[in-house]
Amino acid sequence: MNTNYSAIIEEIVADLKDFDNQGKLPSYIPELAKVNRDKFAICLTTISGQTFKYGDSEEKISIQSISKVLTLSMAISLIGAEIWKRVGVEPSGNPFNSIIQLEYENGIPRNPFINAGAIVVSDILVSKLKNPKQEFLNFVRGLCGKSDIFYNEQVASSEKSVGYMNSSLAYMMKAKGNLENEVEEVLDFYYAQCSLELTCTELSQAFLNFTETGQPFGHGDFVLSESAARRMNALMLTCGFYDESGDFAFEVGLPGKSGVGGAIVALNPQLYCVSVWSPPLNKKGNSSKGMKALELLTTKLGDSIF
Ligand code: GLN
Repeated sequence: MNTNYSAIIEEIVADLKDFDNQGKLPSYIPELAKVNRDKFAICLTTISGQTFKYGDSEEKISIQSISKVLTLSMAISLIGAEIWKRVGVEPSGNPFNSIIQLEYENGIPRNPFINAGAIVVSDILVSKLKNPKQEFLNFVRGLCGKSDIFYNEQVASSEKSVGYMNSSLAYMMKAKGNLENEVEEVLDFYYAQCSLELTCTELSQAFLNFTETGQPFGHGDFVLSESAARRMNALMLTCGFYDESGDFAFEVGLPGKSGVGGAIVALNPQLYCVSVWSPPLNKKGNSSKGMKALELLTTKLGDSIF
């Protein structure tokens, strides 16, 4: 295995110079359609704390669905295995915002990383926490060891103003008895968590917590056992990229999570955490160039979890 990370990042950048970045920006969230599609960043942090970066790694990115891993961690720390009565752990094989399974599976989403599942997790946090937005913000700040981390209210309200699909998912689950709070209140929190902004450097710092540090994962009152953290990796591997999770496991071979802001974070639990950012998305809603960069990374490193 080659662990000359800085040389490998340089090679990846050179290999991607002529990458045909055909993807589209997520125009269904108007604010995200305004982002410069040529942005690109990569940041790898080893478990010993060394960081290797390239490009726009200090620019704030809308983390979108990557937040689903962090809210799930909080919810598990609050209610433990009870959560699996309300959301499953199977890949859905459907797009991230699909509603079809909810109808015939009694309002129980297939997994916590599709939108329906994440909305159930948001519902749990809204039920259990006094001030969910502030507490989620504090949790992420704690994981990153930084305080200048904020929601982007413009992005949240832009998404909310046209969030018909998420409203449909939430109302379907409410009708089936799998949402405790009012739809509007749950979605208000959900859109806030998606609008959280982190740099690539902060993302790899936050998710370094899921590597085998020998420490329980978490911050403050929200802590997961090592076994629960391992299970989060299992979920990221099987469900982190929606109906492209199989492809990601096949091409990259690491647990990870993407968001429609164009960021992807992935980790080799015994070695490092890596984040990439390139806004144009492929048809499955994952960053095209980001996926390619990570495929090149594990190929050149000669590693994966397998
Ligand atoms: N906020 C986005 C949504 O609910 C998140 C989707 C994503 O990043 N895949 O559609």
